[in-house]
Amino acid sequence: MLELREVKVSRGVLRGERGREASDLPDRYRGERLVRKEEFIAPGVPTALIERRGLSPCPEATNLVCAEIEKDGRKHLLIPEAAAAWKQLRPSAQKEGIEIYIVSAYRSIFRQAEIIRSKILAGQSIEKILMVCAPPGYSEHHSGRAVDLATPGVKRLELDFENSAAFRWLHENAQNFGYTLSYPRGNSKGYAYEPWHWCYSFT
Ligand SMILES: [Zn+2]
Repeated sequence: MLELREVKVSRGVLRGERGREASDLPDRYRGERLVRKEEFIAPGVPTALIERRGLSPCPEATNLVCAEIEKDGRKHLLIPEAAAAWKQLRPSAQKEGIEIYIVSAYRSIFRQAEIIRSKILAGQSIEKILMVCAPPGYSEHHSGRAVDLATPGVKRLELDFENSAAFRWLHENAQNFGYTLSYPRGNSKGYAYEPWHWCYSFT
């Protein structure tokens, strides 16, 4: 069950998700308001879509630790077990000359809503957005177990990651550390193939 907690969302998201262009929005609707999470999900993301794709709610993790600090100082948070496993996985790959690093880990439900909002404001349809982006409350990133990974020389979050030595190494070894690929080609959840997205599932 999703906890009842208030999140801030923009009316632009709610209206945009009904298929309107962001530019149609009168200025008075551009302000923010507080709604319950369920209200955001219900009108914003078609319930039928969630059911059809069999998406499961992912509650936000409450116990998070820093798994890695990126060069720009950004901290990537995971639950302690996933962070500990990551701290074994990364040096293990390094020993074989493979450099892998985290570009995204824990993400709040609010942040997920922000991401979707920005895509809607950029003119994308909600159906299209939800092929590459989980509805708020449904992303594995909320759980503090999922990571988006990158390797030097390959553009982040691009399919090309699949052709990297890092991906090949992950494909063969990540499961030994509890990490598995969440969205392979043709996955049952209806997400686009994401070779960079791995999720920790031990414990
Ligand atoms: Zn991801």
